Amino acid sequence: MSIRAIVWGENVHEAKSRIVADLYPDGMHGCISAALNEDAGISATTAVLQEPEHGLTPERLAETDVLVWWGHAAHGDVADAVVERVCSAVWGGMGVIFLHSAHFAKPFKRLMGTPCNLSWREAGERERIWLTSRQHPIARGLPDHFELEHEEMYGEPFGVPEPMETVFVSWFQGGEVFRSGLTWRRGAGKVFYFRPGHETYPTYFDPNVRQVLRNAVHWAHNPEPRIMSPDAAPNVPVTEALEPLTERGPRLHRDGESGYR
Ligand code: ZN
Repeated sequence: MSIRAIVWGENVHEAKSRIVADLYPDGMHGCISAALNEDAGISATTAVLQEPEHGLTPERLAETDVLVWWGHAAHGDVADAVVERVCSAVWGGMGVIFLHSAHFAKPFKRLMGTPCNLSWREAGERERIWLTSRQHPIARGLPDHFELEHEEMYGEPFGVPEPMETVFVSWFQGGEVFRSGLTWRRGAGKVFYFRPGHETYPTYFDPNVRQVLRNAVHWAHNPEPRIMSPDAAPNVPVTEALEPLTERGPRLHRDGESGYR
Protein backbone atom coordinates (compact mmCIF):
# COMPACT_ATOMS: atom_id res chain seq x y z
CA MET A 1 0.00 0.00 0.00
CA SER A 2 1.34 3.43 -0.85
CA ILE A 3 2.11 6.09 1.74
CA ARG A 4 -0.81 8.51 2.10
CA ALA A 5 0.45 12.09 2.11
CA ILE A 6 -1.32 15.44 2.32
CA VAL A 7 0.47 18.54 1.05
CA TRP A 8 -0.98 21.45 3.00
CA GLY A 9 -0.67 24.84 1.35
CA GLU A 10 -1.46 28.22 2.78
CA ASN A 11 -2.39 29.25 -0.78
CA VAL A 12 -2.24 33.00 -0.13
CA HIS A 13 0.71 34.20 -2.24
CA GLU A 14 -0.70 32.28 -5.22
CA ALA A 15 -3.86 34.40 -5.03
CA LYS A 16 -2.19 37.75 -4.31
CA SER A 17 1.06 37.72 -6.30
CA ARG A 18 1.23 37.58 -10.10
CA ILE A 19 4.82 36.28 -9.87
CA VAL A 20 3.87 33.35 -7.64
CA ALA A 21 0.70 32.57 -9.62
CA ASP A 22 2.69 32.45 -12.88
CA LEU A 23 5.40 30.31 -11.31
CA TYR A 24 2.98 27.89 -9.64
CA PRO A 25 -0.24 27.83 -11.70
CA ASP A 26 -1.45 24.77 -9.73
CA GLY A 27 -0.40 26.33 -6.43
CA MET A 28 2.79 25.53 -4.56
CA HIS A 29 0.92 22.67 -2.87
CA GLY A 30 -0.08 21.35 -6.34
CA CYS A 31 3.55 21.39 -7.51
CA ILE A 32 4.80 19.67 -4.36
CA SER A 33 2.11 16.97 -4.46
CA ALA A 34 2.92 16.31 -8.13
CA ALA A 35 6.56 15.81 -7.12
CA LEU A 36 5.49 13.28 -4.50
CA ASN A 37 3.17 11.46 -6.90
CA GLU A 38 6.11 10.78 -9.26
CA ASP A 39 6.89 8.04 -6.73
CA ALA A 40 4.60 5.01 -7.13
CA GLY A 41 4.99 4.37 -3.41
CA ILE A 42 3.37 7.68 -2.46
CA SER A 43 -0.22 8.78 -2.90
CA ALA A 44 -0.39 12.55 -2.31
CA THR A 45 -3.41 14.86 -2.13
CA THR A 46 -3.65 18.52 -1.16
CA ALA A 47 -5.42 20.66 1.42
CA VAL A 48 -5.47 24.45 1.77
CA LEU A 49 -6.06 27.03 4.48
CA GLN A 50 -9.30 28.25 2.85
CA GLU A 51 -11.14 24.91 3.16
CA PRO A 52 -13.39 24.24 6.19
CA GLU A 53 -11.08 23.22 9.06
CA HIS A 54 -8.26 24.01 6.61
CA GLY A 55 -8.95 20.65 4.96
CA LEU A 56 -7.57 18.83 8.01
CA THR A 57 -10.59 17.18 9.60
CA PRO A 58 -10.04 14.43 12.20
CA GLU A 59 -11.29 11.87 9.66
CA ARG A 60 -8.84 13.02 7.01
CA LEU A 61 -5.87 13.14 9.38
CA ALA A 62 -6.71 9.63 10.60
CA GLU A 63 -6.14 8.43 7.03
CA THR A 64 -2.87 10.34 6.58
CA ASP A 65 0.60 8.88 7.05
CA VAL A 66 2.64 12.02 6.36
CA LEU A 67 1.63 15.69 6.34
CA VAL A 68 3.72 18.22 4.38
CA TRP A 69 3.26 21.88 5.43
CA TRP A 70 4.00 25.12 3.57
CA GLY A 71 2.91 28.42 5.13
CA HIS A 72 4.20 31.98 5.36
CA ALA A 73 1.84 34.96 5.25
CA ALA A 74 -1.10 33.56 7.23
CA HIS A 75 0.36 31.50 10.08
CA GLY A 76 -1.94 33.39 12.46
CA ASP A 77 -5.06 32.37 10.51
CA VAL A 78 -4.57 28.68 11.27
CA ALA A 79 -7.12 27.69 13.93
CA ASP A 80 -5.64 26.57 17.23
CA ALA A 81 -7.97 23.53 17.30
CA VAL A 82 -6.47 22.35 14.01
CA VAL A 83 -2.95 22.96 15.32
CA GLU A 84 -3.69 20.76 18.37
CA ARG A 85 -5.22 18.11 16.11
CA VAL A 86 -2.12 18.05 13.89
CA CYS A 87 0.23 17.87 16.88
CA SER A 88 -1.82 15.05 18.45
CA ALA A 89 -1.62 13.13 15.18
CA VAL A 90 2.17 13.58 15.17
CA TRP A 91 2.46 12.42 18.79
CA GLY A 92 0.38 9.40 17.78
CA GLY A 93 2.70 8.50 14.89
CA MET A 94 1.90 10.67 11.84
CA GLY A 95 4.99 11.94 10.03
CA VAL A 96 5.27 15.66 9.32
CA ILE A 97 7.50 17.73 7.04
CA PHE A 98 7.76 21.50 7.44
CA LEU A 99 9.03 23.48 4.46
CA HIS A 100 10.86 26.82 4.30
CA SER A 101 8.85 29.58 6.04
CA ALA A 102 6.87 26.94 7.94
CA HIS A 103 9.64 27.40 10.50
CA PHE A 104 7.17 29.91 11.98
CA ALA A 105 4.03 27.80 11.47
CA LYS A 106 2.00 27.24 14.63
CA PRO A 107 2.26 23.42 14.61
CA PHE A 108 6.03 23.56 14.07
CA LYS A 109 6.52 26.00 16.94
CA ARG A 110 4.23 23.90 19.16
CA LEU A 111 6.17 20.72 18.37
CA MET A 112 9.55 22.39 18.87
CA GLY A 113 8.64 24.40 21.97
CA THR A 114 11.21 27.08 21.11
CA PRO A 115 11.05 30.43 19.23
CA CYS A 116 12.23 28.89 15.89
CA ASN A 117 13.65 32.28 14.88
CA LEU A 118 16.32 32.82 12.23
CA SER A 119 17.80 35.59 10.07
CA TRP A 120 16.83 36.10 6.42
CA ARG A 121 17.52 38.14 3.31
CA GLU A 122 15.50 38.17 0.10
CA ALA A 123 18.14 38.82 -2.57
CA GLY A 124 17.74 35.92 -4.98
CA GLU A 125 21.22 34.65 -4.16
CA ARG A 126 22.75 31.26 -4.83
CA GLU A 127 22.27 28.51 -2.22
CA ARG A 128 24.59 25.51 -2.14
CA ILE A 129 23.16 22.60 -0.20
CA TRP A 130 25.57 20.01 1.21
CA LEU A 131 24.80 16.51 2.44
CA THR A 132 26.21 15.70 5.85
CA SER A 133 25.67 11.96 5.37
CA ARG A 134 25.48 9.82 2.22
CA GLN A 135 23.82 7.06 4.22
CA HIS A 136 20.80 8.96 5.46
CA PRO A 137 17.54 7.83 3.77
CA ILE A 138 16.56 11.46 3.11
CA ALA A 139 19.79 11.92 1.12
CA ARG A 140 19.29 8.83 -1.04
CA GLY A 141 20.17 9.35 -4.71
CA LEU A 142 21.45 12.89 -4.21
CA PRO A 143 24.85 14.31 -5.16
CA ASP A 144 27.20 15.44 -2.38
CA HIS A 145 26.03 18.98 -3.01
CA PHE A 146 23.61 20.78 -5.29
CA GLU A 147 22.79 24.40 -6.01
CA LEU A 148 19.69 26.54 -6.25
CA GLU A 149 20.54 29.57 -8.35
CA HIS A 150 18.00 31.86 -6.70
CA GLU A 151 16.84 31.50 -3.12
CA GLU A 152 16.05 33.52 -0.05
CA MET A 153 18.84 33.36 2.53
CA TYR A 154 18.14 31.87 5.95
CA GLY A 155 20.97 32.25 8.46
CA GLU A 156 22.00 30.82 11.81
CA PRO A 157 21.38 30.87 14.64
CA PHE A 158 18.18 28.88 14.06
CA GLY A 159 16.17 28.79 17.30
CA VAL A 160 15.17 25.13 17.33
CA PRO A 161 16.04 22.34 19.79
CA GLU A 162 19.16 20.35 18.94
CA PRO A 163 17.95 17.98 16.18
CA MET A 164 18.17 14.21 16.14
CA GLU A 165 20.11 14.46 12.87
CA THR A 166 21.36 17.19 10.55
CA VAL A 167 20.96 15.90 6.99
CA PHE A 168 21.80 19.07 5.03
CA VAL A 169 23.66 22.32 5.59
CA SER A 170 23.39 25.30 3.25
CA TRP A 171 25.90 27.93 2.20
CA PHE A 172 24.67 31.20 0.73
CA GLN A 173 26.36 33.51 -1.72
CA GLY A 174 26.30 36.30 0.85
CA GLY A 175 28.36 34.21 3.27
CA GLU A 176 25.82 32.82 5.76
CA VAL A 177 25.32 29.15 6.57
CA PHE A 178 22.22 27.33 7.79
CA ARG A 179 21.24 23.84 8.97
CA SER A 180 18.76 23.24 6.19
CA GLY A 181 17.65 19.63 6.76
CA LEU A 182 16.88 18.63 10.35
CA THR A 183 15.08 15.70 11.97
CA TRP A 184 13.34 15.24 15.31
CA ARG A 185 11.04 12.70 16.92
CA ARG A 186 7.99 13.93 18.77
CA GLY A 187 6.07 11.16 20.52
CA ALA A 188 5.71 8.39 17.94
CA GLY A 189 5.96 10.83 15.04
CA LYS A 190 8.94 11.83 12.93
CA VAL A 191 9.49 15.48 12.04
CA PHE A 192 11.64 16.85 9.20
CA TYR A 193 12.36 20.49 8.44
CA PHE A 194 13.64 21.35 4.95
CA ARG A 195 14.70 24.93 4.31
CA PRO A 196 14.42 25.78 0.57
CA GLY A 197 11.18 26.94 -1.01
CA HIS A 198 10.74 30.71 -1.16
CA GLU A 199 7.53 31.45 -3.09
CA THR A 200 9.02 33.71 -5.78
CA TYR A 201 11.59 31.16 -7.02
CA PRO A 202 11.00 27.87 -8.91
CA THR A 203 12.57 25.80 -6.11
CA TYR A 204 9.90 23.07 -6.07
CA PHE A 205 10.59 22.28 -9.73
CA ASP A 206 14.23 21.49 -8.94
CA PRO A 207 14.86 17.73 -9.44
CA ASN A 208 17.08 17.43 -6.35
CA VAL A 209 14.57 19.24 -4.15
CA ARG A 210 11.80 16.96 -5.44
CA GLN A 211 13.95 13.94 -4.63
CA VAL A 212 14.48 15.21 -1.08
CA LEU A 213 10.71 15.63 -0.64
CA ARG A 214 9.99 12.06 -1.80
CA ASN A 215 12.79 10.65 0.34
CA ALA A 216 11.54 12.60 3.34
CA VAL A 217 7.99 11.23 2.98
CA HIS A 218 9.35 7.68 3.02
CA TRP A 219 11.56 8.47 6.01
CA ALA A 220 8.75 10.15 7.99
CA HIS A 221 6.28 7.33 7.44
CA ASN A 222 5.71 5.31 10.60
CA PRO A 223 4.14 1.97 9.53
CA GLU A 224 3.00 1.12 13.06
CA PRO A 225 -0.73 1.55 13.76
CA ARG A 226 -1.53 5.11 14.79
CA ILE A 227 -2.25 5.85 18.42
CA MET A 228 -5.28 8.06 18.06
CA SER A 229 -5.84 11.22 20.00
CA PRO A 230 -6.78 11.86 22.79
CA ASP A 231 -5.31 8.54 23.95
CA ALA A 232 -1.90 9.20 22.40
CA ALA A 233 -0.51 9.99 25.81
CA PRO A 234 -2.94 8.93 28.56
CA ASN A 235 -2.17 10.22 32.04
CA VAL A 236 -3.69 7.63 34.40
CA PRO A 237 -3.45 6.75 38.11
CA VAL A 238 -2.33 3.20 38.98
CA THR A 239 -4.22 2.08 42.08
CA GLU A 240 -2.98 -1.53 42.27
CA ALA A 241 0.75 -2.19 42.74
CA LEU A 242 2.26 -5.35 41.22
CA GLU A 243 4.13 -6.15 44.44
CA PRO A 244 2.97 -5.91 48.10
CA LEU A 245 3.36 -2.33 49.13
CA THR A 246 3.23 -0.50 52.44
CA GLU A 247 1.80 2.96 51.98
CA ARG A 248 3.79 5.72 53.62
CA GLY A 249 3.22 9.42 53.98
CA PRO A 250 0.18 11.53 53.21
CA ARG A 251 -1.98 10.79 50.20
CA LEU A 252 -3.15 13.99 48.53
CA HIS A 253 -4.86 12.60 45.42
CA ARG A 254 -7.75 10.55 46.86
CA ASP A 255 -10.34 9.27 44.40
CA GLY A 256 -12.79 11.98 43.50
CA GLU A 257 -11.15 14.41 45.86
CA SER A 258 -9.58 16.74 43.35
CA GLY A 259 -9.52 17.19 39.65
CA TYR A 260 -5.81 17.55 39.27
CA ARG A 261 -3.30 14.86 38.43
ZN1 ZN B 1 10.63 32.83 1.98
